[in-house]
Amino acid sequence: MKHLSSLNKYFWKYRGHFMLGFVFVVLTNYFRILSPQLTGYVVNTVVQSIKSADANASEIAKNEKNYDFLVRFVIDKFRDNPSHKILFTGITLLVIALISGFFMFLMRQTIIVMSRHIEYDQKNEIFTHYQKLDTNFYKTHSTGDLMNRIADDVSKVRMYTGPALMYFINLAAVLIFSIFFMFKANPKLTIVALAPLPLLAVAIYFVNTIINRKSERVQSLLSDLTTNAQESYSGIRVIKSFVQEKAMLGFFKKNSEAYRDNALSLARTEAIYFPSMALLIGLSTLITIMVGSLDVVNRVEGASVGRIAEFVMYIQMLTFPVSAIGWTASMTQRAATSQKRINEFLHTEPDIKNQKEPVNNKLEGNITLTNVDFTYPHTGINALKDFSLQINSGEKIAIVGRTGSGKSTIAQLLLHMYEPQKGMIAYDGIPVNKFDIHSLRKQISYVPQDVFLFSETVRNNIRFGVENASDEDVVTAAKQASIHTEIESFQESYDTLVGERGVTLSGGQKQRISIARALIKDPEIVIFDDCLSAVDARTEKEIIGNLYRFLQGRTAIIITHRIFSLFDFDKIIVLDSGKIAEQGTHNHLLGLNGYYAEMYNRQQEQEKER
Ligand code: ADP
Ligand code: MG
Repeated sequence: MKHLSSLNKYFWKYRGHFMLGFVFVVLTNYFRILSPQLTGYVVNTVVQSIKSADANASEIAKNEKNYDFLVRFVIDKFRDNPSHKILFTGITLLVIALISGFFMFLMRQTIIVMSRHIEYDQKNEIFTHYQKLDTNFYKTHSTGDLMNRIADDVSKVRMYTGPALMYFINLAAVLIFSIFFMFKANPKLTIVALAPLPLLAVAIYFVNTIINRKSERVQSLLSDLTTNAQESYSGIRVIKSFVQEKAMLGFFKKNSEAYRDNALSLARTEAIYFPSMALLIGLSTLITIMVGSLDVVNRVEGASVGRIAEFVMYIQMLTFPVSAIGWTASMTQRAATSQKRINEFLHTEPDIKNQKEPVNNKLEGNITLTNVDFTYPHTGINALKDFSLQINSGEKIAIVGRTGSGKSTIAQLLLHMYEPQKGMIAYDGIPVNKFDIHSLRKQISYVPQDVFLFSETVRNNIRFGVENASDEDVVTAAKQASIHTEIESFQESYDTLVGERGVTLSGGQKQRISIARALIKDPEIVIFDDCLSAVDARTEKEIIGNLYRFLQGRTAIIITHRIFSLFDFDKIIVLDSGKIAEQGTHNHLLGLNGYYAEMYNRQQEQEKER
């Protein structure tokens, strides 16, 4: 339960809603409690008018002081005219029901609204925190897990801050009011009527726990089923070409059957729920009527027909709140589990944080890596070994090497996504961890190896990092990335949607849009991670020509698996297993006749074949 205490700050924030809600709950129940009393009184009045001389009548008069003062006010009206009195009571009952209903409306309006506000705040809190966490956190937690905590778990917590809390206060109010008036009227009958109710609460708690467990199972099976279906839709081309439709159907059927069996078992349990509730309430009503009637027949003091009617109504009134105890308890338990999971993430601190007084300098473009050693924390893969490199402002550097040689890792480290275990990375002589993370990343244009576009318009995808970019800026960037003419050929040009609901772009188009996104930033330093791999040779030449102009005066690191003979790099680094194998200019490396020369010759041959 201690996990739920982290919600207290929200209750404090919305204390106005909370207090008002509390007042409305009390008022709702105060008005509701009047109707059994009035009903009981009216019944007695009827009985009295039938046999006015009976002892029963004197009994009624004696007990009048036990009623609430509002009820006594109604009782005093029309003392000498029973028919008018009955009519007046009827109207009062209606008015009371309306007032109580109105307060109930207000009660939901405050407490449930409060829970929605808390839900909103909590989602934002979690999302903001997620964004602070490092790449490493995202590598070790699945997207599904992250999604669950921000969606599912938050709604479970809302069941606690809203309905569960409301029912709990409601139950307390109803119990206090009714037990107070019941005891005042007839203690013996009170005990008889209330005896089966604890049993009801416990029974419902157990049934509810079973239902929750089963419905969670059903939920998870449903999500399996959905994932299964979704994957077969998105992979439909593979399925069809490998003629696996039958196998997929069999797989789906198996999942579907498991889901059906569990759903049926859940339905069975739910079917027991209401009948058993009705049984216990019926039992309570039956005992009350029997004991009450025997007392009336035996002329026990304080017993009257009206009281029996009154008590039966109390039982009806208590039924729902008491059965809600079980429900409230199991909801609170689930909320605590969910809040625990949420807290787990909220208490995770990012490894990479700004230092006390972060440097905000404008970068000049000098980059130094000295004896950098880096191992990926969760896999233990040693991706860079004693790596040193000096890049001066305005230089163009190429990094080539086999896949897995550590090229992308260099880019990640330069963006300060990870902290190297040994060695130092510095910009203009200042260690990277002294910089303000945001200011540093803002000044570097990075095109990742695996491009990612948002389900947005082409325009918004290009101007992603620069909010105030004009339409001309977008077009200029697109032209530099040689994608402008293609974008214009789309039906809605720059307003075309990308992704599932929009156009499906080829790998090369995606790469060029993400290049445009990097170019629009007007950065000091540019890092391209193999971002021309899916572009054809002719377009590649065109882009390189544009880049040549764009990169004038900027520092550039271009990671590539293809050698651009056109591009005059200041230095080419050949990486092998996290170490520099060869380095120098194009001509120097060709002269070495090593890995680079081999790679270049192979590429030349391939181009000739085309
Ligand atoms: P390249 O870009 O040259 O293909 P990478 O820098 O991506 O090489 O990878 C270098 C090594 O680090 C590889 O062995 C790869 O499996 C590993 N690696 C890359 N990224 C991660 C990561 N996020 N977590 C763990 N290991 C990684
Ligand atoms: Mg790579």
